[in-house]
Amino acid sequence: MDKLRELKDLTASLALHNTKNHLEELIHQAEQEQLSYTAFLYRVFTGEIKHRHRKALEKRIKEAGFPYPKHLKDFDLSFCTALSRTQFSQLSELTWIDGLYNLILAGPPGVGKTHLAIALGYRACEEGYKVSYTSMQYLVQCLKTEEIDRRSRTKMNRIRKSNLLIIDEVGYLPISSVEGNLFFQLISELQEQTSVIITTNKGFEEWTEFLNDPALATAILDRLSYRCDRIHICGKSYRLENRKSFLGEGGNADEV
Ligand code: ADP
Ligand code: MG
Repeated sequence: MDKLRELKDLTASLALHNTKNHLEELIHQAEQEQLSYTAFLYRVFTGEIKHRHRKALEKRIKEAGFPYPKHLKDFDLSFCTALSRTQFSQLSELTWIDGLYNLILAGPPGVGKTHLAIALGYRACEEGYKVSYTSMQYLVQCLKTEEIDRRSRTKMNRIRKSNLLIIDEVGYLPISSVEGNLFFQLISELQEQTSVIITTNKGFEEWTEFLNDPALATAILDRLSYRCDRIHICGKSYRLENRKSFLGEGGNADEV
């Protein structure tokens, strides 16, 4: 019994957290299954490695700041005619992140832009990439306040260290010229180090309008478009097509 407590202290000192938490179970199973010494050590160390990978993944997902989880397996391709099965597989394989390609997902509300962006971000976290998610509105706020606000600084530091940055809802709200310039500086800074996914309801020609500055819009689009795929997801809103009703068929609620 004492030896067991001592062993637990030793595993804790060595930061073998999984082994420490499952020590009795591991020993009991090894006795039951009459494992060889080699097989026992193999089980202990692979368990520890798996646990570390799981923890690291949880950390990457937490730090990415996704508003909610979305997964590629739940993305209904038959609903999204903008992407062929091959293109979807190519995106899922994430080699475009290593090649520093950007992705612009454009289209009206409800067609799955955010779903696809977050799901690719999740997959990237699973594959070991550092990912950051932000709405355009929050990004602009962080850019403006990073000198004076600790949370904004932390977010911006993470963004600058990311392999993949997702900027959701670009163009929904107009931005001032100061904000536009800060955005341009960030995009320029990230150009040779980070892939960017942008979701937007605006066509390129409308960027001038929401940025309020044709020269700035051209400069930003020039940098973003250099290595870039633009996917225009048109069609119906998935939300409207798959509308859920609380009252169901028998209810008297008006159709939206
Ligand atoms: P957008 O960002 O284009 O406005 P969202 O990605 O937020 O749209 O999608 C709205 C809702 O519809 C979400 O719950 C999303 O999961 C779902 N959705 C949209 N497109 C698809 C799709 N092709 N397959 C599965 N779910 C989808
Ligand atoms: Mg969206």
